[in-house]
Amino acid sequence: MMMYVTKIGLWIGFALLSLFVLVTFAEAADDEKWPIGVIARFDDHGTGLPLEKAVTSGVSVIQLKVPIAVNRTEDNARRILETLKKYGVTLTCVVSGFAGESYKTISGVRETVGLVPESTRRERFEDFRSVSDFAKCLGAPSIQFHLGFVPEDIESQAYRDIVRVTREACDYVFENGQWLNLETGQETGAALLQFIKDVNRLNLQVNFDPANMILYGCGEPNEALRIVGHFVRSTHCKDARWSKNPGEDWGEEVLFGTGEVNTERFLETLRSVGYDGPLIIERENKESPDKQYDDVLKTIEYLKQLRKKVLE
Ligand code: MG
Repeated sequence: MMMYVTKIGLWIGFALLSLFVLVTFAEAADDEKWPIGVIARFDDHGTGLPLEKAVTSGVSVIQLKVPIAVNRTEDNARRILETLKKYGVTLTCVVSGFAGESYKTISGVRETVGLVPESTRRERFEDFRSVSDFAKCLGAPSIQFHLGFVPEDIESQAYRDIVRVTREACDYVFENGQWLNLETGQETGAALLQFIKDVNRLNLQVNFDPANMILYGCGEPNEALRIVGHFVRSTHCKDARWSKNPGEDWGEEVLFGTGEVNTERFLETLRSVGYDGPLIIERENKESPDKQYDDVLKTIEYLKQLRKKVLE
């Protein structure tokens, strides 16, 4: 009798172990196709999670907001790499940004953001080179940024100038073995596609942020994703609600899955365009750092469920 009970116990143990292995490998397989990540920051600049919090939140990849210039040292690069190695987290991208940019209003973005404003273009381009060099120290495969509002008139000198400086940026990061990902939002999908074709550089890609399409009032995100899908190398899982005056006033950024992106259709569209890169959570909850962190944890769980549903 005793032997019989022991045998049953062994079989139950074996069944539980098999179930554990199956579940673990199923999650790992999902994570290979669409690894879940979050935006992190090393210093106090930027809206991402502090690096230590990001790498212990349960994600397998991160995008890193670049430290300010004085913090881009070899020592800091070593510290970042040690932290990533310790927690088994992979860096997919370094996110650039420039001193003097203002995101308070859409018109402020038009005047101050990216390489578009002419008065700061050369100085910012030098900073951009330093970001790419720092990213090389970290082994990051991509650089990402807001280029700014690209002029709508493709025959204008202003448009040709932006095309030229974007080519220079692509060529610089190419020498460092990197892709250049344009963050979406400030153009329609069709205008962005036209711009990518005009720049005509193989390493120019897109970081698709569906919420930005709504926040800036530039079009339905899933339609835009279908238009530029072939160039999407990375994506932000961020949600938003439309403003009453799209394109003039900001929409409202909200917890992923509670806004007007239609998050299930977003993942389905990613699947239909053949996307297999990371799902990077971007949450800018300004109420408090604790609430921002809680929202990231909620979104990780939400994305795991949604990813499973869409990939099945
Ligand atoms: Mg974004």
